[in-house]
Amino acid sequence: MKKQFCSLVLFCGVLLWLAGCTTVPQTGRSALHLVPAEQLTSMAATQFGQMKQETPISRDPTYNAMLRRVGERIAYVVGSDLPNAQWEFVVFEDDEQINAFAMPGGKVAVYTGIFQVAQSDADLAIVVGHEIAHVVAQHGNERMTQQLLAAGGALLLQFGTQEMDSGDQQLLMAAYGAGATVGVMLPYSRHHECEADAIGLLYAAKAGYDPRAAVGFWERMAAQSNGAPPEFLSTHPSGVTRIRKLNEIMPRALQAYQNR
Ligand SMILES: [Zn+2]
Repeated sequence: MKKQFCSLVLFCGVLLWLAGCTTVPQTGRSALHLVPAEQLTSMAATQFGQMKQETPISRDPTYNAMLRRVGERIAYVVGSDLPNAQWEFVVFEDDEQINAFAMPGGKVAVYTGIFQVAQSDADLAIVVGHEIAHVVAQHGNERMTQQLLAAGGALLLQFGTQEMDSGDQQLLMAAYGAGATVGVMLPYSRHHECEADAIGLLYAAKAGYDPRAAVGFWERMAAQSNGAPPEFLSTHPSGVTRIRKLNEIMPRALQAYQNR
């Protein structure tokens, strides 16, 4: 019985791996994506459409032209890294939000607050490049996949430990839950941020924006945080780590910038 159970788990694992293993563009990292990309793209299109109805859209001609100019240049270099993209670039009116995001299918938005920190096209290219990189690398899909596997793992564990006494079983389940969150999900999300920085920097450079702008930009973002950090930074890595990692990729980005 135990043997059969183990081979079933192993078989499912191999099947999952074969089904969803893809390569992240620009970095070549292997990642597991079990949610069909088309499904996420259509969900994102619906959600983005809703946001546009519910959130005030900025009509400021300077901000809109800046986002369009930068966004289209980056979309051009992203090219086949994001197949079937239907690009949209929207500025939402909210001076309090120093933030930006991108969704599967090429939906890109910034809040007017970001222009307090992104003063040039090169600055904006850094943040837009970073957000588009999350989409290209399918980080959302990878996180959803991890959550699916963690949920599946918990079920299997429950099944496999049903002969244990209930106290031991509960302890094991709790340990598994904590392990899955801290051990798998959190480090991955930090990894995703660094990967998005690196890929985004390469895109910005290839699109003709000086990648060296990134260091000053992230320093200004960090300086914005009087007391509580802006929302963007609370979900993103701290300044020092970020700058160190950026400097590691800088030679490659500079080369892309100079050879374009
Ligand atoms: Zn990010």
